[in-house]
Amino acid sequence: MTPLEALLIRRVKAAGPIRLADYMAECLLHPEHGYYTTHDPFGAGGDFTTAPEISQMFGELIGLCLAQSWLDQGAPSPFTLAELGPGRGTLMADLLRATTAVPGFHAAAQVTLIEASPRLRARQRAALGSHPARWLDTVDALPEAPLFLIANEFFDALPIRQFTRDPAGWCETMVGLKGGALAFGLAPATPLAALEPRLADTAPGERIEVCPAAPPIIAAIARLITAHGGAALIIDYGGWHSRGDTFQALRGHAYADPLAAPGAADLTAHVDFEALAQAAPPCATAGPIPQGTLLTRLGIVARAARLAQNLSGTALESHHAATRRLTDPQEMGTLFKALALHPPGSPAPPGFD
Ligand code: SAH
Repeated sequence: MTPLEALLIRRVKAAGPIRLADYMAECLLHPEHGYYTTHDPFGAGGDFTTAPEISQMFGELIGLCLAQSWLDQGAPSPFTLAELGPGRGTLMADLLRATTAVPGFHAAAQVTLIEASPRLRARQRAALGSHPARWLDTVDALPEAPLFLIANEFFDALPIRQFTRDPAGWCETMVGLKGGALAFGLAPATPLAALEPRLADTAPGERIEVCPAAPPIIAAIARLITAHGGAALIIDYGGWHSRGDTFQALRGHAYADPLAAPGAADLTAHVDFEALAQAAPPCATAGPIPQGTLLTRLGIVARAARLAQNLSGTALESHHAATRRLTDPQEMGTLFKALALHPPGSPAPPGFD
């Protein structure tokens, strides 16, 4: 039994079942036993691999996309160059290397990382070397300035609530106890005004998910971009319009029972891009478009060919495999999508039009 499991069992015994969102928040970010507090989840020795960890090309192309958007908007100085949930800091390091030659970009950029885990903050500090950077707890602390932001696989880690439609309303998924062990259950049906629009496109028995933390984060980013200029790239797996149960656990690169080892497995849910886009106005949005389409339009084929010139043998093979993994529809190419936020009346970032 993990230490967090013992804590959660005690809590449920004392106060009753907890919402799935509370379970997810405790498992991921509990200050002592949370997954991101205690683990470095990325790479071959971890539980999952993300696009920036697969190839340097991901961070390079995202960096050039943001830098071009910055140039298109008149190269405002200073500006906030932000990343939400930067993991090991690999993406920001690749982005900064790729943009070294963009005149004025580094001098104007205030590199800002929004990260909850002190352990990962230390990893990010190491990845950025001597490059100046500051860390913030939330997007609400971002300064009033033009904002160029990237969030890769951040929104899928935000806690979700899950509801099953019932003739009498909606039953929320709860985590309670069965035979002394954590178990899923459903709360009694209640009509919920906020879910009224979903009555039109669901039938009793169908499940939907809501991520309450996501829209306020998008709204805060959108407000800054509308007021001061900038752009945001939100890349994640998911779709348009939440449907069905997408809550999942990953441990050692394999799917796991999400209740089996609280705090020791990564928990995620698919991102509902519709809910994100709806929180942006008056800021403009573009996409979501498939990750493979975005990377192809940003020039991954040429960049991959260039890098391949210096490689041979197994290094060359794994470089080709990484390119395929990022772009192929059978791999990350279509499941992962990119949504852009940009100021109303200004062009969308490169790759989105
Ligand atoms: N973007 C990285 C890491 C994705 S994992 C990559 O692509 O490799 C999710 C990241 O978001 C981790 O760094 C995690 O610690 C951070 N995170 C999760 N929930 C958060 C929250 N509520 N506030 C800030 N950071 C959070």
